[in-house]
Amino acid sequence: MSSGADSAVFGRSSATLSTASHGEGVYLYDTDGRQYLDGSGGAAVSCLGHSDEKVRAAIHGQLDKLAFAHTGFFTSEPAERLARKLIDNAPGDIARAYLLAGGSEAVEAALKLARQYFLEIGQPGRHRVIARRQSYHGNTLGALAAGGNAWRREKYAPLLIEVSHIAPCFAYREKHADESLEAYGQRAANELEAEIQRLGPDSVMAFIAEPVVGATAGAVDPAPGYFQRIREICDAHGILLILDEVMCGMGRTGSLFACEQDGIAPDIVTIAKGLGAGYAPIGAMLASERIYRAIADGSGSFQHGHTYHGHPLAAAAGGAVLERLVDDGLVAGVPGKGDRLVQALQARFGQHPHVGDIRGRGLFRGVELVENRETKAPFEPSRKINVKVKKAAMAEGLICYPAGGTVDGKSGDHILLAPPFIINDDQIDELTDKLGRAIDTAIAAA
Ligand code: PLP
Repeated sequence: MSSGADSAVFGRSSATLSTASHGEGVYLYDTDGRQYLDGSGGAAVSCLGHSDEKVRAAIHGQLDKLAFAHTGFFTSEPAERLARKLIDNAPGDIARAYLLAGGSEAVEAALKLARQYFLEIGQPGRHRVIARRQSYHGNTLGALAAGGNAWRREKYAPLLIEVSHIAPCFAYREKHADESLEAYGQRAANELEAEIQRLGPDSVMAFIAEPVVGATAGAVDPAPGYFQRIREICDAHGILLILDEVMCGMGRTGSLFACEQDGIAPDIVTIAKGLGAGYAPIGAMLASERIYRAIADGSGSFQHGHTYHGHPLAAAAGGAVLERLVDDGLVAGVPGKGDRLVQALQARFGQHPHVGDIRGRGLFRGVELVENRETKAPFEPSRKINVKVKKAAMAEGLICYPAGGTVDGKSGDHILLAPPFIINDDQIDELTDKLGRAIDTAIAAA
């Protein structure tokens, strides 16, 4: 059965969607029996594929024991186990994990925690947030305000809190030809310093950024040294660094937390997608010792909460996912598989007249499509290349995550790839073959 125009699910009425039936390994199937290679895990969610035995068993086991106990009265064994394991594997001095139901909730909690921290330490003047134009932090009002996607923000502008947006670190389009990558990284990071000075350092509470940018830009990885300079600037002004690893975290880039590869630790970090791996809705906000201590020694509790935060079933799923990622070595396999994916992408698209850039880290990769490879001129947005790639890929039996250019009107259409960590070499070749045909079909039709 196809849902499509008569779908009873609100928000889906204008789309023609297939009805998903079941999943096996890296493949999804619809009720018409069509098979789809999941080349993007939806949007970087399904890191374990669709039939992981350990995670299924953990959820069943927990369901038979305890489904729900309100966090106002109880903690639970799976929540405690998951929080402990996250803390033990997190960078820097992360001291506590706050479990939520998804990425937007985690970002909202991070922004509120930053504000409460400054109230607790007697700096009530700090309330401003700085973010980057190339960013997506979620769809709830606080997270949407932090995000830089003009299209997503525009309807809700009167409801959004004020957030300053600086330029991203986007070497493909922003680095000068005669500039080294390192020098560009410093220049891009120094935009933060300039913005802090403009706003007044004592009024700024936090800078929020995705270490590797996902949805708005297609796996844009930062220049070397960029985040070290960002960390320095935040420290110099007593500003909290919130890293949003909802998409790029949980091993996607080749280390459990993407920021480990940049040699920095955040004050607060948000995670979600890969933490539940699609088996349960879960997210988390992790906070450093300094922040936890200020609240523990101050008012005593973080003034926040949702009915379903710390949900035992979701926590059991997250705990099993983390075991698969860390103890069973799946994250350790990501760099090698990522290299294999890049080689296949380079072989297929390295000389393609409409592929301007192939980028990213680990199994988090982006392909940017351009009208002209030499000038980097993007396709006219009205040609809707990304929409056509998505459709052509589905017809090929491939799920990928294309989106349009959104940063300062400059970047082109791009395709995000984030396959499950269990993908094998043949499936990587299948992915690039199908993607190649989909791109060519879409461009020919546009
Ligand atoms: N932050 C980032 C970096 C994301 O990519 C997303 C979702 O795409 C979110 C936050 C919001 O997460 P969710 O859709 O689970 O609310």
